[in-house]
Amino acid sequence: MGLTRKSTRAELSRQKNGEFTPEIKIAIAGNPNVGKSTVFNALTGMNQHTGNWTGKTVALAEGCFDLDGKTCVAVDVPGTYSLVTRSAEEEIAKEVLCSPDIDAIVVVCDATCLERNLILALQILALRRPTVICVNLLDEAKRKGIEIDLELLGQRIGVQTVGAIARKKDGLRDLLQALGTLLSANNKLLDTSPTDDNAKAKYPLSDKEKSDTVSPRERSEFYKTTENDSYENEKNSEDESEQIVLAAEKIYHEVCRRKKSDDQDRDRLLDRLFTGKKTAYPIMLALLAIIFWITIVGANYPSQWLSTALFFIGDKLGNLLRHIQTPEWLCGVLIDGAYRTLAWIVSVMLPPMAIFFPLFTLLEDSGYLPRVAFNLDKPFKKCNSCGKQALTMCMGFGCNATGVVGCRIIDSPRERMIAMLTNSLVPCNGRFPLLITLLSIFFVGGAVGFSSSLVSALLLTALIILAVGMTFLVSKILSITLLRGLPSAFTLELPPYRRPQICKTLIRSVFDRTIFVLGRAVISALPAGILIWIMGNLYFGESSLLAICSNFLDPFASLLGLDGVILLAFILALPANEIVIPIVIMAYTSANMLTDYSSLFELKTLFVDNGWTLKTALCTMLFSLFHWPCATTLLTIKKESGSWLWTLAAVIIPTICGVAVCMITNGIFALFGA
Ligand code: GDP
Repeated sequence: MGLTRKSTRAELSRQKNGEFTPEIKIAIAGNPNVGKSTVFNALTGMNQHTGNWTGKTVALAEGCFDLDGKTCVAVDVPGTYSLVTRSAEEEIAKEVLCSPDIDAIVVVCDATCLERNLILALQILALRRPTVICVNLLDEAKRKGIEIDLELLGQRIGVQTVGAIARKKDGLRDLLQALGTLLSANNKLLDTSPTDDNAKAKYPLSDKEKSDTVSPRERSEFYKTTENDSYENEKNSEDESEQIVLAAEKIYHEVCRRKKSDDQDRDRLLDRLFTGKKTAYPIMLALLAIIFWITIVGANYPSQWLSTALFFIGDKLGNLLRHIQTPEWLCGVLIDGAYRTLAWIVSVMLPPMAIFFPLFTLLEDSGYLPRVAFNLDKPFKKCNSCGKQALTMCMGFGCNATGVVGCRIIDSPRERMIAMLTNSLVPCNGRFPLLITLLSIFFVGGAVGFSSSLVSALLLTALIILAVGMTFLVSKILSITLLRGLPSAFTLELPPYRRPQICKTLIRSVFDRTIFVLGRAVISALPAGILIWIMGNLYFGESSLLAICSNFLDPFASLLGLDGVILLAFILALPANEIVIPIVIMAYTSANMLTDYSSLFELKTLFVDNGWTLKTALCTMLFSLFHWPCATTLLTIKKESGSWLWTLAAVIIPTICGVAVCMITNGIFALFGA
């Protein structure tokens, strides 16, 4: 298994030069959402993404920190509830925790639900590796009226136990000290550390630590249950799990006291609203519509400013190139092809993304998204697929490739495949600009005001409902045909509601997501822009190559309510969905040059002059919702499924949906003579 190493640049170069070999490796393990990444970041000073998704940490991040003058490497292990079952994440977690490379384990526990966290902690202790327990989220526990006797807990489970509020970096010094003591006791720090002499004095062995060196069986009762433990031993594992659950329950009742608190009442009230039978769906749709509305309204003006500025710079650059006698064809390729496509993408994509992603992340961080998964669990079960698919679907709204990777949180291979194949049925951020632009100019009249932007947002919400409906339908069809089987049971953890960290969220979503998605779009748009310009300027007789290709596609495209240019744009936009509209514009403009269509009215005129009607706009939006995934998503599906055949299925399935929906829409318009 390959661990992804995320080290500082200096360390990487030192490692390359052979000067640096991390001597101590520490695994940070625990249930999902307990603050492992926060502890990891606080220790290593690195910004690993933290979020409220169940099982979010899929790839393993590593980072260095200093412990008593020695460089330690911390490994952020995927969140898992147990080491006994066999999900992909649990396999990875177990593999890391059992690896001889690991010198010590920090088990991060959530103080607000200690009993469940103790189950995993006890399983990890049964591995008999040097371990420290870090009981995190003490602030939330306090708010909920939960008191934990950490000293007693340490005594009961027989290892060093520290309390922490990782978000505020509270208790991390205790954690480091406990690690120092533990590693010294295991001769990890004593042998070569420059502070060896002081180590014992600095961290005298506690009784607990001394007991760590004796037979683990003597440490606590639960070891009796796992004496000759071998989790490979299927026969005993059920008994062992049961014993561990009982032990966790017993210890929990001994060390934990609960008082009634306002926060519990608040959470219960919010849950009643967000997951209640009558309120859950209306609230979900309203929130979605509000997010879209804020995105549409907020993105409009910055988009226009950016577009005007970037196209102005483009004109000046073109003049400069011509002034220094650059050949006309090279000016065309560089400015009219590459630069203008880029300018379009940046101005159209950046503002909505910079608004949409942070809003989405705020919902994620506040604990609302897991409630969405909870609400959608039932319909997904009805389709014989997994409720966790709701989470991967939500990830798909950001980026389908991310959604596909996220499918690793689904244990059953059958259900995972359904989730992967249907992920691209919801629009990713690369497709939102097309949907918003066409909605604005053809359905809301291009005017920008409160009511029209609200109508846009509502129509967009309707399209999303259609996409989710299609996800259900295709999942159902797959589960009774190619991927038959019964739905598996799963436990979805509903994390407590948390006040999101607004500044951190803003910074993180801009850097982690916006820049990443934009960068990808730019990289794929550059060659595409050049290719389109060449196709538009390469003439065979009277017609350009672009015209020849689009004419060839015309008959089939008209069955879908599109034209050859639009279909060709979808094909050429395989590297990134966001370049469909730039390609269409470039193909329509006689100069084969993307002009500044910052005004939606101008854009509408161009489209209408080229034969667009309401039907064309609607079919283009529907085809944008349902067609083959972009190249990045396809490569990710290939990587995750390990099969070209399933990757092909991932192309065919949404395309069939798109062709069918567009043909039906086209037929309906024909029926009514539109
Ligand atoms: P992981 O899934 O276990 O890696 O958990 P994360 O590190 O992603 O944390 C999940 C959420 O809990 C994030 O929103 C963190 O900001 C929050 N969090 C982590 N530690 C604390 C803490 O001590 N107190 C509070 N209130 N929130 C915390």
